[in-house]
Amino acid sequence: MKISCEIIKDILPLYHDGVCSDDSKTMVEEHLAYCDSCKAELQVMGEELPLNNTEQNLNKAEAVKKLSRRWKKGMKKSLLKGILITTVIIALVTLVLYSFMDFRILPKP
Ligand SMILES: [Zn+2]
Repeated sequence: MKISCEIIKDILPLYHDGVCSDDSKTMVEEHLAYCDSCKAELQVMGEELPLNNTEQNLNKAEAVKKLSRRWKKGMKKSLLKGILITTVIIALVTLVLYSFMDFRILPKP
């Protein structure tokens, strides 16, 4: 049985709060299995906070910004570290190769 999105969206708040009947619950779950738009609707519902909505959203946005800034900084740091480590490894390999070549070219008497 195909249920229209409108019906699901009517029941979604009840489903989200867990106050609908088992039959409605099954119906919603069956619909969510193939309907992405209703799934997204439910997700939005889960993220919505009843109190201080805008303020908390602003705080959230700020936190996300800070986090991404920190992440970018971390990326730069690890990139520098990577370059440093690579340089050291190349220097070591070159050194080892040179000493091996010295052995071959100038064998000790
Ligand atoms: Zn739907």
